[in-house]
Amino acid sequence: MADKLVVEWPLCDGNGVCTFEAPELLEIDDDDNLIVLRDELTEADRPKAEAAVRVCPKHALRIERQG
Ligand code: SF4
Repeated sequence: MADKLVVEWPLCDGNGVCTFEAPELLEIDDDDNLIVLRDELTEADRPKAEAAVRVCPKHALRIERQG
């Protein structure tokens, strides 16, 4: 099963820093809410997802290993 990108919503303040690292996975809508476009990670997504996790100043992202 694919690993998942998980948002701890109470921690996320919608600053959007993560979207620059993984625009295929994350975006900010017109109301400054984070939108998860796709949370199941392919191998190709992994470096970008890991970068998004690293840069989040709120530590609101993590990768959950499945299976
Ligand atoms: S960088 Fe972190 S706090 Fe900012 S929008 Fe992304 S998940 Fe939310």
